[in-house]
Amino acid sequence: SQPALLPSAEDLRARAERAARACGADLAAHEGDHEGRSPVNGATISSVAWSGAADVREAVARAGEAFGTWRTVPAPARGAVVKRFAELLTEHKADLATLVSLEAGKITSEALGEVQEMIDICDYAVGLSRQLYGRTMASERPGHRLMETWHPLGVVGVVSAFNFPVAVWSWNTAVALVCGDPVVWKPSERTPLCALAANALLLRALEEGGYDAALSQVLLGGPDVGEALVADPGVALLSATGSTRMGRQVGPVVAERFGRSLLELGGNNAAVVTPSADLDLATRGIVFSAAGTAGQRCTTMRRAIVHTSVIDEVTDRVAAAYRRLPVGDPTAEGTLVGPLLDRQSYEAFTTAIEKATAAGGQVVAGGERELAGLAEDAYYVRPTVIRMPSQTEVMHTETFAPILYVVPYDDLAEAIELNNAVPQGLSSSIFTQDQSEAEIFCSPVGSDCGIVNVNIGTSGAEIGGAFGGEKETGGGRESGSDAWRAYMRRATNTVNFSGELPLAQGVTFDV
Ligand code: NAD
Repeated sequence: SQPALLPSAEDLRARAERAARACGADLAAHEGDHEGRSPVNGATISSVAWSGAADVREAVARAGEAFGTWRTVPAPARGAVVKRFAELLTEHKADLATLVSLEAGKITSEALGEVQEMIDICDYAVGLSRQLYGRTMASERPGHRLMETWHPLGVVGVVSAFNFPVAVWSWNTAVALVCGDPVVWKPSERTPLCALAANALLLRALEEGGYDAALSQVLLGGPDVGEALVADPGVALLSATGSTRMGRQVGPVVAERFGRSLLELGGNNAAVVTPSADLDLATRGIVFSAAGTAGQRCTTMRRAIVHTSVIDEVTDRVAAAYRRLPVGDPTAEGTLVGPLLDRQSYEAFTTAIEKATAAGGQVVAGGERELAGLAEDAYYVRPTVIRMPSQTEVMHTETFAPILYVVPYDDLAEAIELNNAVPQGLSSSIFTQDQSEAEIFCSPVGSDCGIVNVNIGTSGAEIGGAFGGEKETGGGRESGSDAWRAYMRRATNTVNFSGELPLAQGVTFDV
């Protein structure tokens, strides 16, 4: 079932250009000397110009001006723009998915899923545009009304990672726009065509509505462009998705200028498999979460904490599935595991395996590079299962590659301790048929993560819930639930209609 060949450089470049143009991206206007490589075959598929610090200042200033008007547009009218954007995304779903596959290496089904997630968040935001509710509270004073109102916040800066090259921006942007905020986006330097194409669709929706193009701007470039955006005092909310290393740099800079930040950083996600688990279901859940997206999701399962009574069977089943996984061209039908991003990712993969084996780990499946003969600069690997004697140091770090470490446990308290013992706190899950075990895992003494699942894997969240994690994952929440509040400012209003001036807490101050 292995796809035999990888597409040629010319083929990929032509496909990428066709898809970007179909979405309305003006490639000529962005032509420059920064070459973008496709992980599919390592070949150059884009040549774009990067922004400089002056461009960042100018973009934020333009967005700030556009904010002056946009905040006065009624929220449901702002929602209508997002509704149109969703229609355009639906129309160009395949084009955008092609770019996601070619620049990020995702298999077609996952790339289409990423665009579907954009459409879903737009739907959510359109509904939200009529539901930006504040509360009314009981005032302690007679003839007074106490309430809160939510107002647009200001310019939102978005810094995003390569592995969700369009969805993360849309989570932020769909919600920010209905909340009344313009967005300035610094996408990953690895995925410029995805960014130009996605933004072109939104610009079309804005233009059709007669709104300012400055409401959605893209700044291509590397970390230094991100740094300029992060430091700009005109950015009211800085939403950054990427590694914990990046978040550690970004957080203090935004805090220093009293800006607001929303950090979505690295994960190190585990599943606990208990003796009562349905092992068919657990195996499928583990394989999708651990090997899917070639292990390059923030929610990828990296650790399986398995009860000693079932650990041999679970390891065997997962390893057997891993040996069968079709690895190859992510755009070819039947492929389930695409490439790693680049050589650095491959080196991180091999280094982690070396560390794990040095600590007593035994590789039970995978570990090898694949298809190396077909394209020197493309890095495909066989997803890897390593049986570990205990949760050693390498398991405390996020290696962005498909390595699943399997460790044993004897009682649930120990499993929860292992789940929580890493510095990251994004996603977690438990496979069990025992209701009390499931409840304990979801309780205050259970998993300490932002996402806690039962009988499904750690990855593949829906947009309706708040997405994000604790500890070194950064604490931010995006997408559904009440995550919109991060994009607005709250005003508490006390309205006195009593004709008297009673002071709170019974204070008297007679003049
Ligand atoms: P990365 O940290 O290398 O880069 C992310 C983005 O930050 C890029 O746009 C980069 O240019 C920018 N950047 C880097 N340093 C910066 C700085 N000092 N100031 C401003 N911007 C800076 O991450 P990556 O390799 O693209 O993505 C993989 C990482 O992202 C993984 O750690 C993964 O877990 C994480 N991630 C987290 C989530 C989440 O929601 N928690 C989602 C996707 C990815």
